[in-house]
Amino acid sequence: MDNSKYRSKHYRLWIPVAAGFLCALLAVACTGPFEDRTLERQLYVFGTIVTLSYYDIDESRANEATAEIDRLFQQMHQDWHAWQKGALTNLNQAIAEGRAAPVPASLIPLIEISKAACLKSDGLFNPAIGKLVALWGFHASEMPVGPLPAPEAIQALVEAHPSMADIEIREGVLTSRNRAVQMDLGGVAKGYAVEQALTRLRTLGIRNAIVNAGGGLGVIGSHGGRPWRIGIRHPLGRGVLGSLAVFDGEQVHTSGNYERFREFEGRRYAHILDPRTGWPAEEIVSATVIHTEGALADAFTKPLVIGGTREWYRIAKSLGLKSAMLVDSSGTVHMDPAMARRVQFEGTPPKVILSEPLALD
Ligand code: ADP
Ligand code: MG
Repeated sequence: MDNSKYRSKHYRLWIPVAAGFLCALLAVACTGPFEDRTLERQLYVFGTIVTLSYYDIDESRANEATAEIDRLFQQMHQDWHAWQKGALTNLNQAIAEGRAAPVPASLIPLIEISKAACLKSDGLFNPAIGKLVALWGFHASEMPVGPLPAPEAIQALVEAHPSMADIEIREGVLTSRNRAVQMDLGGVAKGYAVEQALTRLRTLGIRNAIVNAGGGLGVIGSHGGRPWRIGIRHPLGRGVLGSLAVFDGEQVHTSGNYERFREFEGRRYAHILDPRTGWPAEEIVSATVIHTEGALADAFTKPLVIGGTREWYRIAKSLGLKSAMLVDSSGTVHMDPAMARRVQFEGTPPKVILSEPLALD
């Protein structure tokens, strides 16, 4: 839909800059009678376009709220950056040198959540593998090119067993008993950020909104008394896969191997790594999780991508997930019945393999 007349100049500025980035989750899919009461604003942060959609508020409140979220996100982006110098890289340097280091208060909750998610997923979500992510060339804004890392180098990092369990924060001071740990929170930070943004918007009195950070979004309230509906981009580049109803307080995150990957000799090596082997997960092109905690929605897409078509259901159950959907490299959709009830496919429906329920309804 065209909301250009509602966009302030400042936010529109960013669109051409980021036009090359794909977003897994599209903006509000629902048009029609509610269209004219929806306002959209856009920011550029976390290397992507973040879209805020508001329903039924006036322009000045939307602008104020957006400016507040912009400040919040820019600060987070700086503190959490995995390779540009900031609070996180300082911590990683201290870990590599075997020193204890004070943790900025703003980072503690995210590190603690990441640690819990790492333990709960038996290390399949493991943000301590930053050295591996860097070795594969993903600590750069550009996509990596050229030959793959040496298998011995990958193996050495796997055998060093970096884990969030090696990290301890006591009275604001972090120590790691393993120098191979390098935190890369790129697999959870956006989810946590969206969650924080929803809390901030609620504090500002916003009652109906979506914060969409590309791979992840969260919603407050509804869209004119109906649930917000969001579009899901087809991970194999076939336009829009479908749309999904999302309810107050829920977050939806999609991780895939179609946005960031290394291409070498006709094969793609994606940015989600299996910490057990040090190699990129194959087979699954995208995993989508709905969760009321944004950080977990984001984090828990990784174990599903790694688990693949055979293991995803068992893993999702052990993580306590209620709804999940995966698309494999042949385009087949794997999902649970609760997810199936929310999804509306667009165009020719894909082949669907329905699992047993994940949770009792
Ligand atoms: P984005 O939301 O930015 O598109 P994703 O949510 O798909 O990114 O997460 C991918 C990122 O997660 C990688 O770029 C890397 O930084 C990190 N990562 C890769 N493999 C793992 C893993 N097994 N556990 C935790 N984080 C991972
Ligand atoms: Mg993500």
